Amino acid sequence: MGLKQSLRKLAYSSGFLHRYHRKKNHDALTVVLFHRVLPKDNPEWDTADPEWSVTLEFFRECLQFFQQHYSVVSFPQVLDHYQHGAPLPGHPLLITFDDGWKCNLKYAAPLLSEFGFPAIVFVTSGALGKPILSWQEALFALWKSGKLDDAKVSTMSQTLGMELPKEITSRAQYNRLLGILRGLHPEKRRLLDPALLEWAGDLPDVPFMLEHEEVVQLRDHGLHIGSHGISHESLVKVDDVHHELRVSRQILEELVGQDQPVLCFSPPQGQYDQQTLDAAHSLGYQCACTNRTGINAICRHDGIINLGRINIDQPYLLNKQGDLDASKLASLLFRQPILEQG
Ligand SMILES: [Zn+2]
Repeated sequence: MGLKQSLRKLAYSSGFLHRYHRKKNHDALTVVLFHRVLPKDNPEWDTADPEWSVTLEFFRECLQFFQQHYSVVSFPQVLDHYQHGAPLPGHPLLITFDDGWKCNLKYAAPLLSEFGFPAIVFVTSGALGKPILSWQEALFALWKSGKLDDAKVSTMSQTLGMELPKEITSRAQYNRLLGILRGLHPEKRRLLDPALLEWAGDLPDVPFMLEHEEVVQLRDHGLHIGSHGISHESLVKVDDVHHELRVSRQILEELVGQDQPVLCFSPPQGQYDQQTLDAAHSLGYQCACTNRTGINAICRHDGIINLGRINIDQPYLLNKQGDLDASKLASLLFRQPILEQG
């Protein structure tokens, strides 16, 4: 064990990190970000990106950690605090999910209920009922399951009218192909979407994304719904950011009902700018959960609230036995800088 690692473990086991957190973060809101939550033995793991997925077992360990060190709060509580000064408990923490995966309902929601924890799920409205989130996840899943063969790459080359590298087996070859596709103009690259989504439709256990009526079931589980756009394209690159934010909100509100308005969004791929925030605010959004790195000073705020979030990266947080290394999570969360609004 390295010196740094030993010191971190000692700082956690001796209670030093905990005392530091009790003092420093009493009035700071920590917002954590998850994507997919799947049992270890679920076949969906075989095609999921480990960077954006956690096991159900790991998720439970995270919830135990939150129970020990935080007061988990709901999105309406957070909003009521920033807008009206309603008190929040000490060490508040908000749990968020991006994208709108079916596994959030099937596996994460029951476990959250068991702990009595609220959360907010940012749903990509255009992905509802689709086999997989977007072309990128489809490409990854096909590659990971050994189904990105030369015939498919040839079809893609023909569709685009350009040569693409073949024999995509290693991660490096996959990354090269991904880089080429990412570099294309979105309008051109979008020509591939129908084929990629159709191929992904043949993966076992699809669809992976929530169905429309499952958004209602999430609400019935006591979870809140936010928007993650329509197309999962970056909001700084889309032609019409207003359209993405307005229509996704409409679709989701039709499902969850006007009594639970969609007031918060999270920008797909973490990309946003001031124009994005202004557009969202003009459409009635009150809050953005972004990827600003840090935890959030709690205070009254009149404009749109921009909450920094911390991504829960399972590969980074596991110990050698394959369990959550609580000292690593403590070190990651407790020492974050405190961000101000505006
Ligand atoms: Zn996303």
